[in-house]
Amino acid sequence: MASFDEFERLFGRAPQAATRLAHLGRRPDEQHGFVNAPVYRGSTVLFPSLEALLAYDQDYTYGRRGTPTTRRLQEAVCALEGGAATYIVPSGYAAITSAMLAFAASGGHVLVTDSVYHPARRFCDRTLARFGVDITYYDPLIGGGIGGLIRPNTRLILTETPGSLTFEMQDIDAIAAAARAHDVFVMTDNTWATPLYFRPLRHGADISIQAGTKYITGHADTLLGFITVNERAAPAMKTLHETLGLCVAPEDCFMALRGLRTLQVRLERHWASGLRVAEWLRGRAEVAQVLHPALPGAPGYDLWRRDFAGASGLFSIVLQPYPQSALAAMLNGLTLFGMGYSWGGYESLIIPFEAQAMRSATHFAAQGPALRLHIGLEDVDDLIADLAAGFDRLNAKAKAG
Ligand SMILES: *Cc1c(COP(=O)(O)O)cnc(C)c1O
Repeated sequence: MASFDEFERLFGRAPQAATRLAHLGRRPDEQHGFVNAPVYRGSTVLFPSLEALLAYDQDYTYGRRGTPTTRRLQEAVCALEGGAATYIVPSGYAAITSAMLAFAASGGHVLVTDSVYHPARRFCDRTLARFGVDITYYDPLIGGGIGGLIRPNTRLILTETPGSLTFEMQDIDAIAAAARAHDVFVMTDNTWATPLYFRPLRHGADISIQAGTKYITGHADTLLGFITVNERAAPAMKTLHETLGLCVAPEDCFMALRGLRTLQVRLERHWASGLRVAEWLRGRAEVAQVLHPALPGAPGYDLWRRDFAGASGLFSIVLQPYPQSALAAMLNGLTLFGMGYSWGGYESLIIPFEAQAMRSATHFAAQGPALRLHIGLEDVDDLIADLAAGFDRLNAKAKAG
């Protein structure tokens, strides 16, 4: 691996993020000089002797427990998040559910942000509840007030900043300080910012999860999740990960390593183009609200500026009241924006959503239809032209009735 320590010794500072992304998790010296980590396909690992087999203490013991490909990826993500260990799971959703399983316990209590990635709410209500875990949803804007919701049996707080679909920023420092006072674990879904733009563990969280499916792989072709933990959370997560038998195909890990190499350049473009489109949308009469925490004056902007180093290309808007038929005319005629779930690839996406149906602790007041946009790597003026024509269709259809 490139020696960042040697770099630091020579130049008196750590290498920048772009440099780290180009070198993390690479060991050409161990792979005949080839630049990238090879894909190790394998279940059985041979031991050289009976003594070694019985001692079970070599680097690799069984494919499920890790291969050189998975280890390189773990190393890289762990360094980016600044954690003690990183675990790889088959999807971002599996990162949430398996980490919750590691820290929740029967008879215990879990606090979950009302703005949580919606499938996680289903997991809590249908599966965790069945195992006798009590769940309370809380207002994402609660900050240090979370202390008032912590009970003697509270084990875990699941935060997400900004929140899925509605983009509320959470004060992780304040929540973590309250949690620490009661010995409660804090987990943050860090998918939106990626570890390049926010590092939850530095802000007091114990567990940072990431849907690698989104920006890390970045090409809408791979599903993968990461759980990065600090020292305090590592033992419970290690046990759960091993005992559930979670493992990921080496090709998918290879794709994630490849995605990491270009993460910074892609994110800079997603961020800049996303803000351009958000600013343009704010000036449109059809738009009642822009929910983009990196847009000056938008909800959450101050926290975003305090804690985050950048923004991704995902945000939402709320339109003025329009009938469904007008919305359909707008969306069905778009030439560049695709309609589909997930995000974080190179392509632009747009979906409508009903936030109020997905919450129980807070009310999301929307004047009209709400849309989530992912701004991809296309030319931003082309994207704006596509949306402008969409608004023309929206208005024409609304007028025609
Ligand atoms: C997409 C997403 C997930 C789930 O990731 P998958 O890999 O699709 O399972 C989790 N959290 C957030 C915030 C997401 O947007």
